[in-house]
Amino acid sequence: MGCVFCKIANKEAPAEIVYEDEEFLAFPDIRPKAPVHLLVIPKKHIATLQEVTERDIELMGTLLLTAQKVGRLKQLKGYKLQMNVGKEGGQEVDHVHLHLLAQ
Ligand code: 5GP
Ligand code: ZN
Repeated sequence: MGCVFCKIANKEAPAEIVYEDEEFLAFPDIRPKAPVHLLVIPKKHIATLQEVTERDIELMGTLLLTAQKVGRLKQLKGYKLQMNVGKEGGQEVDHVHLHLLAQ
């Protein structure tokens, strides 16, 4: 498996982890596009939102709550969340993730 985010989740690739629990992880984007640019991911490998099914509803909801936790942890007053979906939507890494962007 060549998924870089799975490798980060398994500690087989380095990342400055800012939040971790059993199911989720947050770490800085290697090429930040804002002063704060974190990636929030489920540890479970799902390639893209296009592959999400009703079985993943709780996971996807908790992904949003995890972004909320990370925003609080970083004491951000506000932030933007972005999810790129599919190659044509700008998705480069095929493992579901939220970009959390803030000034
Ligand atoms: P996407 O374009 O798929 O929505 O976002 C993938 C993001 O992952 C990109 O912003 C890219 O900079 C970041 N990225 C790619 N490889 C790595 C890596 O090995 N480590 C970290 N921390 N970020 C990565
Ligand atoms: Zn993966």
